[in-house]
Amino acid sequence: MSKKQLTNDPYAAACQQLRDAVAALADQYEDESQLQAAAARLATHDHLYTKKLTLTMDDGHPKTFDAYRFQHNAARGPYKGGLRFHPQVSESEVKALSMWMTWKCAITNLPYGGAKGGIAVDPHELSPRELQALSRAWTRAFAPYIGPWQDVPAPDVNTNGQIMAWMADELIRLHADDLTQNYAATFTGKPLIFGGSQGREEATGLGGATVLAALARAQKMKIADTAIAVQGFGNVGAWFARHAARLGFKVVAVSDSRHTLYNSHGLDIDEAAAAKRQYRRFNEAHSAGKVNGEILPAADILSLDVNVLVPAALENAITTDNAHTIKAPLIFEMANGPTTPDAEKYLVSQGKMVMPDILDNAGGVTTSYFEWVQNLSGDTWSYDTVLGKLTPLMERSFADVWAMHQRRPADSLRQAAYLIAVKKVIDAMIIRGQV
Ligand code: NAD
Repeated sequence: MSKKQLTNDPYAAACQQLRDAVAALADQYEDESQLQAAAARLATHDHLYTKKLTLTMDDGHPKTFDAYRFQHNAARGPYKGGLRFHPQVSESEVKALSMWMTWKCAITNLPYGGAKGGIAVDPHELSPRELQALSRAWTRAFAPYIGPWQDVPAPDVNTNGQIMAWMADELIRLHADDLTQNYAATFTGKPLIFGGSQGREEATGLGGATVLAALARAQKMKIADTAIAVQGFGNVGAWFARHAARLGFKVVAVSDSRHTLYNSHGLDIDEAAAAKRQYRRFNEAHSAGKVNGEILPAADILSLDVNVLVPAALENAITTDNAHTIKAPLIFEMANGPTTPDAEKYLVSQGKMVMPDILDNAGGVTTSYFEWVQNLSGDTWSYDTVLGKLTPLMERSFADVWAMHQRRPADSLRQAAYLIAVKKVIDAMIIRGQV
């Protein structure tokens, strides 16, 4: 691997972040060997399950796909983390994402460990029948390793409530003889009609907008004058943009993998979302006169003159190749791992602030946790109840990170978040006698 490939490798980045946190935690543990033993264990995964799934395509030919479930650490509770369907799903990516889940659950105090999984596939190239068959095949392959008290998957990039419903249904069939457990609780992000939670779909975006508003208050930023550009207009980006606009921020640009839609006076996010649903591409919606803004190349979103840049698409969106083009003083990570460590170092050296993913996008797993609690207790909560729990939890998690940052101003915000999260996991390992 070349040096550049190494620095853009998500797992290498995740391990570096862990090492930085452990080094800074050294003075907090009397027994340094205990800290080092925990760190060594956290640098590896509890379980790496890899399978080949063979699907009979609609034309009758078999096709094989690489599938994954990686379980990083369960010191604080059952494994938890999303499932991604994307052609670039790889071992390194899933290893990094599962480690980041461990920290995300710790920072928000959810009683979970971290996991992640997925299939290397472009689901847009599958027919509805093929997609359902592949989703069910994933469940059959990984059924021994998942369960409501064992490992609880959820949607991520290119997966959704429908896919969770197929997967949960398959698991319930496999355990038809076991009536002691609610196997539907193994998957969160399910549709409302099948055990899903109010608010789950929008929770990641809403949680992020809540954290951004808390940061704006802490920094005495004028919300109405704060211009935001959001890269990625999928579940996370679109809901983030909508809730940020509702809280009074000026969302001036949103982008997908093809185009940026820009209006310096602020976009109507509901209009942009409806147009994207109808036309799929911003340029076609623009030609039809359905959006009020100009169309720019997708990559231009990064260099717009805005106050906040929100990467909400995929990892490695901000690298040393493009970091110097960023004008925004605040980068607010809604995607997982969108900024490479070297790019972050450069941005911080330029006086910019990078608000880390493990805090900003934790609203999704938090509401997944609410769904799991409802499923296991046989309860259903109203939308207002879910929001009434999510908002203060995100604000409290932000306050913890902000207080740590105030205590250690020389550290980045990511380091502040990691110090809190990694310490909680190490302390759980110690109290359990695992190290
Ligand atoms: P999604 O598939 O719904 O949306 C992804 C969006 O990114 C799409 O609009 C796509 O067009 C866009 N995109 C892809 N490449 C792009 C590029 N080069 N430039 C601009 N846009 C690009 O996925 P999602 O669920 O919104 O997830 C987005 C990110 O948020 C991922 O990193 C995911 O891991 C993370 N995340 C998701 C959740 C969740 O609840 N869905 C929770 C936490 C974190």
